[in-house]
Formats: sequence, C-alpha cells, structure tokens
Amino acid sequence: MDRRDLLKHGAVAGLASALGLGRPGELAARVALGDVPGGGRQVRNVIFLAYDGTGYEDLAIADFFARRVVGRSLRFHDLFRGGQAGTMVPSSLTSWVTDSAAGSAVWATGRKIVNGQLSMYPDGRPLTTLFDLARERGMATGLVSSARITHATPAAWAVKVEHRDMEDVIAEQYLASGTDILLGGGQGPFDPAARFDRRDVAGEFRAAGYEVVHTAEALEAATSSRILGTFTPGLQHLPYEVDRRYQGHPAPSLATLVQAALLRLADAERGFVLQVEAGRPDHANHNNDPGGLVWDWMAADEALGVLLDFVDARDDTLLVFACDHDTGGGVAYGWGTGYRNTDPGLLTLGNLRSSYEWILREELPRRPSPVEIQEVARQYLGMEVADEQAWQLSSVLAGFSPAGMRWGHRNAHGGARNIQMAALLSESHTGEPDRPGLNFATANHTAGFVPMALYGAGVGSGNLGIVDNTELFGVMTAALGISFQNPMMTEDEARALAAG
Ligand code: ZN
Ligand code: MG
Ligand code: ZN
Repeated sequence: MDRRDLLKHGAVAGLASALGLGRPGELAARVALGDVPGGGRQVRNVIFLAYDGTGYEDLAIADFFARRVVGRSLRFHDLFRGGQAGTMVPSSLTSWVTDSAAGSAVWATGRKIVNGQLSMYPDGRPLTTLFDLARERGMATGLVSSARITHATPAAWAVKVEHRDMEDVIAEQYLASGTDILLGGGQGPFDPAARFDRRDVAGEFRAAGYEVVHTAEALEAATSSRILGTFTPGLQHLPYEVDRRYQGHPAPSLATLVQAALLRLADAERGFVLQVEAGRPDHANHNNDPGGLVWDWMAADEALGVLLDFVDARDDTLLVFACDHDTGGGVAYGWGTGYRNTDPGLLTLGNLRSSYEWILREELPRRPSPVEIQEVARQYLGMEVADEQAWQLSSVLAGFSPAGMRWGHRNAHGGARNIQMAALLSESHTGEPDRPGLNFATANHTAGFVPMALYGAGVGSGNLGIVDNTELFGVMTAALGISFQNPMMTEDEARALAAG
C-alpha cells in the first residue's frame, strides 16, 4: 500500500472510528487494512435515505414552512441531534458538479464515476454494489422512490448500465438482480405496450413470484414479501406532494411506500439493505418551483419520521442520510426595510395549491391568454398577476420569444416553460410581500456541499466534519461486516476514455 492509499484509507478509517462501532480503534484498523474477515457484523440492517437535489438553503426554507405554515417541527432535527451529522462533498469523477447517477453510484460502490453512468466505468467495467454484496450474504434488498423507480438514484444500487436513460434495460436488470422491493413511479419500462421490444417485464416479475401493483388500494391489499409497485403510467414520477395533496392525485405518499417496504423487510432472516429516495425535491428545484419544493420536503420528512421510528424501536439498524447534490441554488432572500417583507413573503408559500408543472400540464392550454394565466395564478398559487406580467408570460408560453424576452437561466437543460413561468412569477411587482421571495441561480445542479448524517445502531457522538461522498460506502460495509473495495479509476483515465 503506497502513501496515497494510506491517506485515502485513513480518511475512511477516521469516519468509521467516529461511528464508535465495535471496540475502539479496532474497526478503524480493519477498514484501514481493507481485510475484514467474513464475520464481525455490527448491524443487521442498513437503510439509506437520499434527498435528491437539495442543500442547506432548502433546509432553511423547509424549516420555516414546517414551523410557520404547517405548524410542526421537522423530524430532520431529530436526525441531526440524535445521530452524527456532517457535510458531504458531492463531486463526481470528472465534474465538481455531480448528476444523480454518479451521485448515487458513489454511495453504492464507494467509487466516483462519470456523470450519467450507473455503477459502471466508461470502459464498460461494472462495479460491485452494496446490493450485490448484501445478496451474496442472503440479505433482502429494496428500493423506494418518489421518482419513477427506474430513475438514476434507485437504479445505481441494483443495475450497471452505460447510461441512466436506458430505463427499459434497467427494468430488466431489476428483475435479474433479485431486488425484493421496488416501489415508485413509472409503469412504462415494465409495460409491454410501452416498451420498444414489447417484452412483458411486469409479467416476468409476476412469474418470478412478485406481486405487481399500480394503486394504493392494491398495495394495501398485497400480501407477498416481494413486490413491484409502480403508481404512475409511462415515465411519470410520483406526483409532487402539493398535487397529491390538493389536486387529488391518487398515488400513495412516500411515507406509505416506506411503510410498505419496512413491513416486508423487517423480519428478513439475514437482514436487509433498503434505499429510499425523496426524488422530487430535485425536480422542483430544476423547475424553480417553490410549491413543489416545500411540500415534497414535507413528504420527505414524513418518510424520514417513519424511518426514525423504525430505527428507534430496534437496536440493529443503521440509518444513513445524505443529499446527492444541491439543485437550483434557490435562496430565500431578505427584502424590504429591515428585511421586514421576508417572513410575510415566505408565509405566502402556504397559498400554493399546485406545482408549476401541474398548472402547465393540466390547467392551462398550450397557448394561454393573459386572463387565463391570471385566473389560474389566483386559483392555484394565490397570486395576483399584473396585466403586463400576464401578457409577457402569455407571449412566452405561446412560443413568442423576441430578443430579450426570456426569463430564467440560459443553461437550463429542461423545463424551459416552467423556468420562464417561475422567473416571471417570482418577483412582486407591487413591492408588497405577495410572493414567497425565493430566487434561483440556475435550473441545473450545483456544487454546494450538502447535509449528511448517521443515525441508529452503532452510531456514536460528535461531528463527522467534511465527508467525501466516497466514504459512506465504507461505513455501510464496515457496519455489515463486509470487506470489499471496488477497483479505482483516476480522473485522467476516465477523461481519456470519454474522449476516445
Ligand atoms: Zn440528484
Ligand atoms: Mg433521483
Ligand atoms: Zn437533478
């Protein structure tokens, strides 16, 4: 082992020793040597909770919303007070800004990879994931997400593909992987009518002993230990929580899906590894959508509450929490003399009754008139929109974009209609606090360091400091008594392969 390896392993050892697992120093030494012999398992179950695309400013906005609008405190406080918290560096192998594929694969494999790929190097070499290691030991595995279940964050733990967009292949690999629980959105990749090859992947899941369900009622009635639940058609994610709550979308909540997963996994003979993703805060941030963001934070926090209660009721389960990266760079800015408009502005978050995406898809025609925009904004966002602003938005949504008539960030890689609507509606034209007062820097991911925490069995006390995203894998394998390291690839090697 050369000096660089020692330093690298030293960082992992430092984190593992902070966990206080096993005898003092012993675990650290074993992780440092990377040769844990088969046994030495410290916990029975590992649960990983990911909030996709959120950072500390989102926490501040969600905390205000929870206290002042919803009237409760976030369970997030229990996580950070009762566990060991740190700050995670979210970079990928070839970019300081990560995407969700590399951002999740690094947790599952302990290795940074190239953005867009799932647990695979650019030369086609697959990496071994925590799910692979768990299944070798007879453990059960599960994935729960409020995104579609074939999306990058869940997929990185169970499949290896060259690109995250190969979702038909991801569905096939889920079946081959033997993942016991799959609950989220997006029937399409399993549906013979929606797949290019017409293969009946859902039918193959049934033949392999899974119950396959598409409604909250069917989930409630299901009795088998292995289940595939996709609660939205095509490639849809689960609805934004604000739309589920106020627009009557019938999909189950993330907390309900987590309960259904735990019900099946709790008594797994050899323990389980479960990954839960709150996926939609990322999408709300991509769309610069305050209503989507704050309510999906509440949905995520309810799911977190279910997990904390589960971990508290036993002494054998480690909960690992992390955000994969920040998205949007949204901030609650101070405004008015002495910032006195800030809080009244933020309180208007409580008036939001739908996501921007819902308004654009369900409530407005493709080319809405200014009056239609004003009516919808009043009804769904509790906002008065000035005539001039409504006219501008009407023109932009209809596709008329004369020079200079464009709002929002130019590097946005999607959701242009959402972004322009968000940008136009974000600023009060009266100077009164009749808007939430949120501004977004971008429609893309950002480099910001993000929250992470460990909670439950084996977790000690003290601040974990700044943690690299590669280090969480070593904590989980050490806790499970697994000795394994994936092969390394350097940034230069990856860049050369990507260029060739
Ligand atoms: Zn992400
Ligand atoms: Mg995700
Ligand atoms: Zn994203």
